Amino acid sequence: MNVSPKIPTPVNEPVLGYAPGSPERVELKRTLKDMSSRQLEIPLVIGGKEVRTGRTVDVVMPHCHRHVLAKAHQAGPAEVEAAIAAAREAWHDWSGWAFERRAAVFLKAADLLATRYRPLVNGATMLGQSKTAHQAEIDAACELIDFFRFNVQYAERIYAEQPLSVAGVWNYLDYRPLEGFVYAITPFNFTSIGGNLPTAPAIMGNTVVWKPAGTAALSNYFIMRLLAEAGLPPGVINFVPGPSVQVSERLLADRAFAGIHFTGSTEVFQTLWKQASANLTSYATYPRLVGETGGKDFILAHASADADVLATGMLRGAFEYQGQKCSAASRAYVPDTLWPAVRERLLAMLAEVKVGDPADFRNFMGAVIDRKAFDKIRGYIDAAKRASGVKVLYGGGADDTDGYFIEPTVLEVQDPAYRTMCEEIFGPVLTVHAYPATHWVETLRLVDQTSPYALTGAVFAQDRGAVAQAQEALRYAAGNFYVNDKPTGAVVGQQPFGGARASGTNDKAGSLLNLVRWASPRAVKENFIPPRSFGYPFMAEA
Ligand code: NAD
Repeated sequence: MNVSPKIPTPVNEPVLGYAPGSPERVELKRTLKDMSSRQLEIPLVIGGKEVRTGRTVDVVMPHCHRHVLAKAHQAGPAEVEAAIAAAREAWHDWSGWAFERRAAVFLKAADLLATRYRPLVNGATMLGQSKTAHQAEIDAACELIDFFRFNVQYAERIYAEQPLSVAGVWNYLDYRPLEGFVYAITPFNFTSIGGNLPTAPAIMGNTVVWKPAGTAALSNYFIMRLLAEAGLPPGVINFVPGPSVQVSERLLADRAFAGIHFTGSTEVFQTLWKQASANLTSYATYPRLVGETGGKDFILAHASADADVLATGMLRGAFEYQGQKCSAASRAYVPDTLWPAVRERLLAMLAEVKVGDPADFRNFMGAVIDRKAFDKIRGYIDAAKRASGVKVLYGGGADDTDGYFIEPTVLEVQDPAYRTMCEEIFGPVLTVHAYPATHWVETLRLVDQTSPYALTGAVFAQDRGAVAQAQEALRYAAGNFYVNDKPTGAVVGQQPFGGARASGTNDKAGSLLNLVRWASPRAVKENFIPPRSFGYPFMAEA
């Protein structure tokens, strides 16, 4: 074909409201009922074929842990080897596909997700990861649709970035896929990240082995089905749920390992980096190591902040999805002059927050993901109850009888270095330090130096001088910085996401900067008028 198709200009997928009586609510409720009444089997998908190993783990509802939603087959060494072989085999064809052919697969995936797959993927995210309808919609539907549509356009822009050509010479960059396979390892907390990490490299022509988080296997499996229906060829993305340590060790030992696309905790990413370093000399190429990791995200209020706006930002920023967002606000610094008004407003709003089964749409929060998370978060709260200088202002309760429920909890600490101000808890716990309003400059330093992370942060102030001071002093404290807004809810195409320091390699998911990591450019020079003799003018006799 003689055509150079333009990628449609992407716009963010509109967020559906799920208000009573809306068609999307009716359909989602029907899907939830149907999914809850059946038990699914989740196979591995290797080379386009479903593989059942017979070794399964239960995928349960976090808010009703006796309810088994699915049995997920687990990969062993043989399946991991098969996945590597399938990715390598598929590479020969896929890496040579014209870009517009690849792009069509993901544009179609976006449209399928915006329509027929929307209730399925949202429903699976609500039941399997305990998200409310709104939290599932902004993640599993809208953000993933945006990733597909925007990433394809970023790829187009990367390919258009070309060097100078001069008279008689034509220069260009061939953005080759990496030579080998990419290993995508995804977290439980965002279905969209599950979908983005394997597909971003695939859009750039790479083939992938994808290990999803066990607790997100249900929604992630629907994404595999969606991609197959969109026309993704067999072997381009191979889906291998399984024991993470063993799966990773095998993949990282392979000569064709060419990169990691990871989102998860800092410790796990550091372990993977060390393993890759230890194997470095055996690889065919230097691997690309891309990882977005933990956070200890802050809200800093100036004395000029609006108390209502601040209290709302604290509540939504800290407690939506039970605080299990890498960007969730978990430490807040409020001037003592403002704190009584903010505390009153925050506690009054919290009294209206309902926690429970997300299928009951009146609930604002569901359960935390699993027993391990429940025990860890409860451990922090119990220790805080015993500690001197720490007050439990709200919540503090935890109940795992039916589901892993933890009340939204607000702690107030005298010591700004108390552990819940410094360590990532990854649950519905917000710690507040009321600082002397006269200590603004000292507090800026404190916010910057309290934790090793630097993912997100927000400043609330009406005084523009204070905003400018905070932006300057906290320049390296957050990769995503918010002014008078909660530090969560980054939107693809609007706020490219990621942080540095212990929060990751800051390769900004949902941006051109991320996609560029999945290409290994080759510079091509064609000389139209090559020289015919070896001599230069300076060599001639005078
Ligand atoms: P996790 O690190 O426990 O798991 C992430 C993935 O790594 C999962 O697939 C898991 O099975 C796998 N894994 C676990 N241990 C492993 C090991 N030893 N070797 C190889 N793989 C291993 O993280 P999680 O609980 O799924 O997610 C929560 C964490 O993710 C938090 O720290 C959060 O801040 C972070 N996160 C960061 C971002 C970001 O963009 N920066 C986004 C979402 C989540």
